Amino acid sequence: MNSELYLAALVVQEAQMGLMVLDSNENIVLFNEWLVKAACLPEKDAIGKNLLQLFPELQGTRLQSAVETSLQKGFPSLLSQSLNRTPFPIYAGAEEHKTGIRMEQLIHVIPLKGGGITRQRHCIIQIANVSEAVRREKILIEQAKELRRNLITDGLTGIYSRRYWEEQTLIEFRKARRDCSPVAMMMLDVDLFKHFNDTYGHPEGDLCLQRVARAAANELKRPRDILARYGGEEFVALLPETNLEGAAVVSERIVKAIQNLQIPHLKSNVAPYVTLSIGVACGFPVGGDTQETIISEADQALYAAKHLGRNRVVLRKDEFFFTTGNIKITSGIL
Ligand code: GH3
Ligand code: MG
Ligand code: MG
Repeated sequence: MNSELYLAALVVQEAQMGLMVLDSNENIVLFNEWLVKAACLPEKDAIGKNLLQLFPELQGTRLQSAVETSLQKGFPSLLSQSLNRTPFPIYAGAEEHKTGIRMEQLIHVIPLKGGGITRQRHCIIQIANVSEAVRREKILIEQAKELRRNLITDGLTGIYSRRYWEEQTLIEFRKARRDCSPVAMMMLDVDLFKHFNDTYGHPEGDLCLQRVARAAANELKRPRDILARYGGEEFVALLPETNLEGAAVVSERIVKAIQNLQIPHLKSNVAPYVTLSIGVACGFPVGGDTQETIISEADQALYAAKHLGRNRVVLRKDEFFFTTGNIKITSGIL
């Protein structure tokens, strides 16, 4: 063997990747040291064997068709790692072999044109261990998901964050403009919550906000409805494809649900338990209503609800405010 050939053989044996050469009948003619270790298979048990005889599970896989394409047509292939994660039963070490955790593989199939030595076409299967890169990618994906979860949820109450509500509002307004559908908004505010904190302490106040948020969110039944923490003891709800009457029904349900929690509030002059006021407004984005106008109207309705005695729902329609509390409906410019 001349020195270049000897060097080439050494490179193949020492390469830190799997190298396997198949002849035109898909018989293995080269199986390097890296593969011997990774497959826990002596070279003599691999050489001369047919690829599918040695690795029957490759039958019908993308790798098998890449080998055929390479040998018959002379085209190379790079197998998508995410779709072909672990085609060969090979392992990063003895521990992984024992536990059956396969190495993540990035596989190239490269045609070798016969040239001077042989007229036959051969192909190389080149296998790189990408387990570490895949592991790091998984961590990054998990971190990105966690970050997104933190962005879309409010840390204290676990309901949606104001930021997510803002994102969804933009999306829903665009959709409502296309569909000519109405969008309703609610502003919700816990009544006399300062007194609650002063009486029971801030930690108890936090628990109260959590219970109120959960109970209110529970009353939103449609998948696209969103209840978010607006700030402090204020919440905001977005109800796509909902008219004022629909939003009034939901708001009434929420006010009742908070009453039913029966969280004691002895300093409240509204009721002996925690109560909530809600302002509701509705608009048609296709008619030019913006989120700012609808929110501002809902906010004015909330102000009216406070003004009228709290623990109630006030709807804003045109220039008027309506209360729905216990079917008693009043209207007028406040
Ligand atoms: P109103 O019925 O008019 O809404 O009266 P209020 O006392 O609820 O309103 P105000 O805006 O005067 O007080 C809001 C209080 O909410 C102030 C603060 O003590 C309390 N608060 C705001 N954010 C939090 C929070 O994250 N945790 C707790 N425990 N309390 C909060
Ligand atoms: Mg309040
Ligand atoms: Mg407030």
